[in-house]
Amino acid sequence: MAREFPGPESENVHLSFSPTAKYAPKMPQSPDDIYARALVAAGPDGRLPLSRLTAWEIFPFEPDGLRVVALMKPEVPEPPRRGELGKPCNSCASTGEGVIWEDDQWRLLTFKEPSGAPLVVMLQPKAHYDLPNLPDDLGSQFGRLIVHIARALESLPNIARAHVSRWGDGGAHLHVFFFARPEGFVQLRGTCFAIWDDLLPATPRDVRDVDARTVARTLATSYGGDAKEN
Ligand SMILES: [Zn+2]
Repeated sequence: MAREFPGPESENVHLSFSPTAKYAPKMPQSPDDIYARALVAAGPDGRLPLSRLTAWEIFPFEPDGLRVVALMKPEVPEPPRRGELGKPCNSCASTGEGVIWEDDQWRLLTFKEPSGAPLVVMLQPKAHYDLPNLPDDLGSQFGRLIVHIARALESLPNIARAHVSRWGDGGAHLHVFFFARPEGFVQLRGTCFAIWDDLLPATPRDVRDVDARTVARTLATSYGGDAKEN
């Protein structure tokens, strides 16, 4: 049966162009509705069955002996993220550590410890914005930067894809990850690569840093800004 949404005359409809406005009309499923539905699908111990994903070749674990953790009850309101409701923002307090490229509005960083992916970089605005309240001028730059950074990563030798990810559940200051996925590994394709990044042995730091400098220089040439040579 088709889902029916309230018409524009409904009192539930609140149209606004405020960047912080909630989705309208009101989302029909409350967290408790979703939780109750999940419990019906779960076994007596509260665990959901394994999903189709566990049978895909990209899934990093064997299904035998694997079990889903029990789904925790929803918590509303959610605990504050870093950089909201009085919690300090580590991105606003950046000392420049790990920065490989920057311009007046944006910085691109690598992480202190290399991980299993050949290269992981993170883009963030210097000013404290999240994705939904990013002003249009920064939003335009953001779109172009994603293209230029992905192009720089995918032009590295032996890199097949740049996976672009924004989750934002830990910090309220926009931060977007780019994972360089190595060529030839069909198991490393797709959404599980963020887990493979944790499983694979760390890329040697000197190799990672050479690739990072190459990406920073390529970005400075194609987009502008300054590549850092630290
Ligand atoms: Zn911030």
